Amino acid sequence: MAAKNVLPSIDAWLAPRASVNRSAASGLGRGRLSPIVTAAAIRIPERVSSQLALVFPTQSPALFVHEGARQALERRLKAACPGRPVILSITDNRHSIISHSTRHGVLHARVHHMFLDAPPRVVEALARYVARGDRKASMLVGQYIDASGSRLARRRPRAIPLVAKGKHHDLLAIFSELNERYFDGGCHALITWGRKAGRKAVEGKATARKTIKLGSYAHLERLIRIHPVLDKPWVPRYFVEYVVYHEMLHHMIPTARGSVRASTSNLASAKGQLARRVLHPPEFLERERHFRKYERALDWERRHIGRLLRAS
Ligand SMILES: [Zn+2]
Repeated sequence: MAAKNVLPSIDAWLAPRASVNRSAASGLGRGRLSPIVTAAAIRIPERVSSQLALVFPTQSPALFVHEGARQALERRLKAACPGRPVILSITDNRHSIISHSTRHGVLHARVHHMFLDAPPRVVEALARYVARGDRKASMLVGQYIDASGSRLARRRPRAIPLVAKGKHHDLLAIFSELNERYFDGGCHALITWGRKAGRKAVEGKATARKTIKLGSYAHLERLIRIHPVLDKPWVPRYFVEYVVYHEMLHHMIPTARGSVRASTSNLASAKGQLARRVLHPPEFLERERHFRKYERALDWERRHIGRLLRAS
């Protein structure tokens, strides 16, 4: 463990008022700080892997800390501060990775969750740093923080809150029924109402919207989005079903080109029928006709496309 002087210092990551208590310096044997925190002991939602499986309000990122892992790390700190009570809090604070202060003789340490599954030598260095302000330890810890940069990245794209229950139509109920009836429960896509689009682009223009995307399917997220204009009392359930069914087919029938982009399908427009034929392979169109109210749905769309466009 050759700590060179060029190693990044931890200083940049510290909380502004972090105080280093040097009084606790002692002849602590480093060998006592052995690893007992394992990666398997914690469950922390990661930016990339979570996709949409973990959905939480954007303002309050969920931090699932296994209490055992926290206590294990707290014991490491206590071992480095003999005779002094230590309270460890785990945070998700990107701006203050490590902070600690002593209040009424108690060392309060707050560290980012990245340290819960850090390698033993990093945990050891963290304890030495917090206990004694050890400079070499600070460099090692700083290096680890730099290497863990991805965990500090902002959660973008953010987990999308899925809203399936509309005012008039419940997408999840529709999805589940269709899944049983047509796919033997084998469709594992997610579904949500799309967000209401702002009208800025349309307002102030004499021309009305000409097309509307009633549904879309994003392969990467396995997510079906249904246009909120369909959540109206005058839109019959079978039509919403039809749009949902169509997008479920996109999940079940991979595109020939293996595109991971959202399919821009289901274009309802004056040329909607033509667009449909161009954008979908024969197998897709064949299976789409299995929808029991297929003709009725297309007919309803023809008669109401104007109203849909105006309402969107
Ligand atoms: Zn489509």
